Amino acid sequence: MNKHYVYADNAATTPISKEVLDAMMPWLTEGYGNASSIYAKGREAGFALVKARQQVADVLNCKPGEIYFTGCGSESDNWALKGAMHKLAAKGKKHLITTVFEHHAILHTAAALEKEGFEVTYLPVYENGIIHLDDLKAALRPDTALVSIMFANNEIGTIQPIAEIGAICKEAGVLFHTDAVQAIGHVRIDVKAMNIDMLSLSGHKFHAPKGVGALYVRQGSIILPNLIDGGGQEKGRRAGTENVASIVGMGVAIEAAHRDLEANAAKALAMRERLIDAALQIPHSRLNGDRVQRLPGNANISFEGVEGEALLLMLDNEGVAASSGSACTSGSLDPSHVLLSIGLPHEIAHGSLRVSFSDMNTEEDVDQIIEALPKVIGRLREMSPVWERIVQEDAANN
Ligand code: PLP
Repeated sequence: MNKHYVYADNAATTPISKEVLDAMMPWLTEGYGNASSIYAKGREAGFALVKARQQVADVLNCKPGEIYFTGCGSESDNWALKGAMHKLAAKGKKHLITTVFEHHAILHTAAALEKEGFEVTYLPVYENGIIHLDDLKAALRPDTALVSIMFANNEIGTIQPIAEIGAICKEAGVLFHTDAVQAIGHVRIDVKAMNIDMLSLSGHKFHAPKGVGALYVRQGSIILPNLIDGGGQEKGRRAGTENVASIVGMGVAIEAAHRDLEANAAKALAMRERLIDAALQIPHSRLNGDRVQRLPGNANISFEGVEGEALLLMLDNEGVAASSGSACTSGSLDPSHVLLSIGLPHEIAHGSLRVSFSDMNTEEDVDQIIEALPKVIGRLREMSPVWERIVQEDAANN
């Protein structure tokens, strides 16, 4: 088979679609006006922001006035957590509930809040990568200000029972934020029906450019303190001349993702299932996270006796771009906190592979990964003392 380049790391970022780029181009060229200016060029840019805000609001089922444009998902997460905790501290509420397997945009923000004196409860996740609602109920306290639980996990793709969590928070009178950065565009989200008070999203995960995101804040839930003081943009709460082209791109991208959601999800799911079936044929492999309650395009598989970073480099050599739960490139020898949180031993967590498909992938991409995987894993295992030990143990047990 002729090798072509297979991009299978869409949970890290996605390519900009042609539809999105076409919509952005006028705002990168002749449409350069400042959206706050009163002459025609400015007004047109202002109208483009109005349209994009409506497009985001329509997808979430909220009002456009409840959408604040931000620079990325991390910014939205920081604003939601720090803003809400600082605001509610004045009412004596100093307790935050989140989970152990959030993205670092949440975990490091929670840690920063702990340093300021706030108290944080980290709910456990179980082998299937899903929290238990009883743990949430038991963690609620009279001084709980906020619950922040991710919609879908970025590594293992597991989807949390968001509507049930929303109902519990509503009954307890506690604010509920969800980091939906991985979920938007892949699963239907209705902030009203799910009782979500705040929600973070990021454009580059659904074919919009990098550097643009949004935070939804339900009207009547909380007025967050300003994130950036300055001009009147974003109701004066997040000042700074708007990135019109990227915001337009995000509006078009979210609309397109939801227009085509069922078809795209079915396509990604078929690719993921074929890949998982093939990968699990390799001895001493396991799927991480629930097989059903997961994002349609996410497959996360561990292979014993294999080191994740080496696996990625060898797959790269075979023309496949994917990701791993091994954090060696970041200078840490610790495997991913997500894989450890679902009970994987260090050794197995180190040999993990995350493949994430988008609607732009093809069945030929899956063929290429399925062909490359056993070859690459076989080669790595030949060199692995850990694998030698596993083979000896297998022989002793048979
Ligand atoms: N939250 C989750 C679940 C993510 O997967 C990511 C990015 O990977 C982020 C937050 C941060 O988003 P951004 O890269 O837009 O800052």
